[in-house]
Amino acid sequence: MTAPPLFRRIALIGFGLIGGSIARAARAQGLAGEIVVTARSAKTRARVTELGIADRVVDTNAEAASDADLVILCIPVGACGAVAQEIASHLRPDAIVSDVGSVKGAVVREMTPYLPTSVHFVPAHPVAGTEHSGPDSGFAELFINRWCILTPPDKTDIAAVDKLRAFWTAIGARVEIMTPQHHDLVLAITSHLPHLIAYTIVGTADELGEVTSSEVMKFSAGGFRDFTRIAASDPTMWRDVFLANKDAVLEMLGTFNEDLSKLTRAMRRGDGEALFEHFTRTRAIRRGIVEIGQDSAAPDFGRLQTGAKKP
Ligand code: NAP
Repeated sequence: MTAPPLFRRIALIGFGLIGGSIARAARAQGLAGEIVVTARSAKTRARVTELGIADRVVDTNAEAASDADLVILCIPVGACGAVAQEIASHLRPDAIVSDVGSVKGAVVREMTPYLPTSVHFVPAHPVAGTEHSGPDSGFAELFINRWCILTPPDKTDIAAVDKLRAFWTAIGARVEIMTPQHHDLVLAITSHLPHLIAYTIVGTADELGEVTSSEVMKFSAGGFRDFTRIAASDPTMWRDVFLANKDAVLEMLGTFNEDLSKLTRAMRRGDGEALFEHFTRTRAIRRGIVEIGQDSAAPDFGRLQTGAKKP
């Protein structure tokens, strides 16, 4: 006899990179008796139907949420409060309500007032992604060996937290628990500030007068193109992240600016020793990331050199 699925019915509200990857992974692992999906636009809902990944595609958030034992909001951070309000009266008692937003403090603040006390709110953030978005961009392997951070409020039912942990573990993630505030500080430096820097540098290069855009593109392998991948990330998602995690990002930006000033000074003074010491320290961080399995050690992220044939 096979074990029953972890959840009888999972509702995914939003079907882009993250919602689409969760649906594909949950289906591959047999974690849901039924996967019900909705998305904001009729176009996305029609595409989800065509893809055949969901058991049911419904027109409204309320319809998706009703009678689900796990509801995950896979939508931009700025939309979570309004959707929580919309679904609140349709949630079954004891349902687990979660999200995947890249900022946790604001999501908790905006969703909590609407959610009935009879449901278990366990916010989550899978630290996994690509620069692609939309219903075709997801894939079942996205979360394998990536972290998923849960930020349950203090008095959350432990069984609900454990059940959501089991779900993320089953689709390949490693789970860690922290407060929303700590999450937002950690992600400000590991994700939000790098995106801000990438958005800035790509914009700066685009506006240069003396170096043409075609030259920037032609010689991008010098380092620029790695920033362009990050700067190609979804504008709606990232607008919401910077608005929602403003305080932590500004704090990290202050420290970053101080460090940038130190390097600028070292360069201006011809202080090669200071530059060398700094670059040696940062190189060790890259090695550490590879050692803990969060990236590949292959040169240039494993890209095939132009003209090289696939093995
Ligand atoms: P996505 O590919 O752009 O998909 C977003 C989904 O949300 C779409 O189904 C969209 O519907 C729906 N949506 C957009 N605005 C909405 C609104 N105002 N109300 C209701 N639904 C709305 O985005 P994603 O990359 O999956 O990101 C979703 C969430 O995951 C975000 O909160 C993001 O912070 C978080 N996250 C993203 C990444 C990443 O790397 N991308 C990583 C971790 C976490 P339509 O298609 O109908 O417009």
